[in-house]
Amino acid sequence: MTRLLHYLSLCLLSCFALAGPAHTQAQSAATASPLLLQPAAVFDGQALHPGWAVLVEGERIKAVGPAAQLAAPADARAVPLPGLTLLPGLIEGHAHLLLHPYNETSWDDQVLRESQALRVARATAHARRTLLAGFTTARDLGTEGADYADVGLKQAIDQGIIPGPRLLIATRALVATGCYGPRLSVDVAVPQGAQEVSGPDEIVRAVREQVSRGADVVKVYADYRLSAGGPAVPTFSQDELNVLVTTARGLGRPVVAHASTPEGMRRATLAGVETIEHGDQGTADVFRLMKQRGVALCPTVAAGDAILQYRGWRKGQGPEPERISQKKASVAAARRAGVALVLGGDVGVFPHGDNAREAELLVREYGFSPLEVLRQATSGNAQLLHLPDRGQIQPGLLADLVAVPGDPTQDVAPLRQVQWVMKGGVVYLTPKSTN
Ligand SMILES: [Zn+2]
Repeated sequence: MTRLLHYLSLCLLSCFALAGPAHTQAQSAATASPLLLQPAAVFDGQALHPGWAVLVEGERIKAVGPAAQLAAPADARAVPLPGLTLLPGLIEGHAHLLLHPYNETSWDDQVLRESQALRVARATAHARRTLLAGFTTARDLGTEGADYADVGLKQAIDQGIIPGPRLLIATRALVATGCYGPRLSVDVAVPQGAQEVSGPDEIVRAVREQVSRGADVVKVYADYRLSAGGPAVPTFSQDELNVLVTTARGLGRPVVAHASTPEGMRRATLAGVETIEHGDQGTADVFRLMKQRGVALCPTVAAGDAILQYRGWRKGQGPEPERISQKKASVAAARRAGVALVLGGDVGVFPHGDNAREAELLVREYGFSPLEVLRQATSGNAQLLHLPDRGQIQPGLLADLVAVPGDPTQDVAPLRQVQWVMKGGVVYLTPKSTN
């Protein structure tokens, strides 16, 4: 097996060397022999199937089923994955590849003091870590002051220049004028972490600009704090949010809203956004409305958990901060209301590659089962993010597959122990034991 994988990677390396960076990974996979993946079990996005195998041809899944019944072509190469469970590639619902943890450098300093070249160079490393952690797709929700750098980052990944997840990008994101950061003295105007807009005309123009330059989703900050440490307040009027969603929808793009206040969440929901990020102060009423309108919540529990520890919370020793108790109450209220949940951690606030943290916290501190978060990370996110070509192991879908030890439907720990990663039929990580 080691030889086989080495042989495959040599083939891929020579393909890249001959054809140059524009040569795509998908084309490389298409030239290889079909692969018969032989794990101990397959989690297909819904349930665990011990003894199943998967046949991959080119960049797609050709067949899946009980190993004994899977007819493989004569030239198929066997890839034994003993003791491992094969999963659909995990989908990160909320990342910022252009940010790094705030305990390394504050958000203000990243936006104001780091050059775009430095931020992009870092982002390439973040993309690689994300992929090797088993996250073969990520929704990246804003460059936070790095303009349209995510467009080129996505192109570099798609063209096989750097390894990384398939990206859904938001580009600059939209904030109400004066309602974001960084903020210095009132006398100094500094570059902001998102595009400032006020009124329908500016909103329509900015949405069109962002979509035309490559935004797959449009992100709006429906509320934010007006001063450092102050409370969040709704920042856009209902009319402004309505025109924003109508414009984006007309261009075929869903809208994602950052919102923590009940009123910000309510306005965003009424306007027709598809997902609400954070939702810290969500109430039973607003979650009922979200459920009625089919709006999903991406709670990003890992972000708040990290930020409060950066600010001095000694987790497990000090008392639980009010914000964490409130978060637990809001996530519980969302569940009671039957709101669909996107799994996404707001990665970048904490280290890229540590994406499993959100799933771990949901299981260990928020009362979810490992099976629930596993479904959210695969088929659930694929459905909510409109990605019908992935998130399940079915014939015809993209061969984005990862293998973890043990049974991840019973225990969340294996999600941090990804041993093998394939994206589009190309193997990016092999088990340590066989290297
Ligand atoms: Zn975020």
